[in-house]
Amino acid sequence: MGADWSVRTLAIVAGRPEGVGQPANVPIVPASALGLGYSREDGTPTWVALEEAIGRLEGGHATAFASGIATVSAVLDLLPAGAEVAVPSDSYVGTRAMFDHAERMGRLRCRRVTPADTEAWVAAAGEADLLWLESPTNPSLELIDIPAITAAAAGRAKVVVDNTFATPLGQQPLSLGADIVVHSATKLIGGHSDLLLGLTVAADEELAGLLRDARTRGGATPGALEAWLALRGLRTLGVRYAEASRSAALLAERLGKHSAVTRVRYPGSGAMISFELAGPDLADRLCERLRLIRHATSLGGVESSLERRAARAGDAHVPAGALRFSVGLEDPEDLWLDLAQALDSVG
Ligand SMILES: *Cc1c(COP(=O)(O)O)cnc(C)c1O
Repeated sequence: MGADWSVRTLAIVAGRPEGVGQPANVPIVPASALGLGYSREDGTPTWVALEEAIGRLEGGHATAFASGIATVSAVLDLLPAGAEVAVPSDSYVGTRAMFDHAERMGRLRCRRVTPADTEAWVAAAGEADLLWLESPTNPSLELIDIPAITAAAAGRAKVVVDNTFATPLGQQPLSLGADIVVHSATKLIGGHSDLLLGLTVAADEELAGLLRDARTRGGATPGALEAWLALRGLRTLGVRYAEASRSAALLAERLGKHSAVTRVRYPGSGAMISFELAGPDLADRLCERLRLIRHATSLGGVESSLERRAARAGDAHVPAGALRFSVGLEDPEDLWLDLAQALDSVG
């Protein structure tokens, strides 16, 4: 399709049926057989519309999966036994669990790299088979220097970027030299905490074909309803991302000035903030005292939610008093009122 409209516009127009008399939106097509085609192999019109839209937003060839984590599985499925992968020491807990398991089973060799340690990534680019990047990272919102690392990896290690937090509105990693982008559309693309879905987007068609084959073999196909809901969510991603970014910037600034808050991390755009209180007890009390912001896991929905990740198995490396805060679309002044009353009562 090439460069055409802006990402914000493409989120609205891409993947719609074309031609006189066509519906505005692709229908939900619950089908396993489509004539001689079988949906696990060929997809359904609903998945294909979502894939076309996300492919255009990221500038590559998209494949939809049952979940974000199924995309990690599909990428690992392409690696021969004994391959070496580098993975960020702070990254989505399920991704790290997948790499840890593959290593324990003797399938892969894993190297854990501190997200901001660009030198270590550049060294890994010359030695590893695959670099798995995630930026900003979940849950600590660390940043990885994607262009420096793709430049070092060119013609050597393949580079994958989990773009769940930034979304294509924040960055388009394929244009920065990455080979594959993955998304958990469960989060910001879906945007309403009502579905599980993942997508891979490959820069070249051959790699996209290999990922599609991995889906056919592995069987982690998306549901018809989920694909439709993800496409429906995508239509408002531009305004949701812009509004959540505005609110998050305001809240990050105010959090930084509150005496109970010892540290704030906000990458400058996007819906996610990480902030720390002096210890786990204070952070747990804050969670209990919030009245508007939900004390809940997951992120990227229209409703704000917050969670102390170190309380969860697999995220013990996160500071004990750190909270991952997903900023939704409520009035930001109401969000601040809620945070301020809870912070005042614990601090
Ligand atoms: C949630 C998440 C995933 C996993 O996605 P699921 O849809 O839950 O399987 C992967 N990467 C990141 C950054 C996530 O936040």
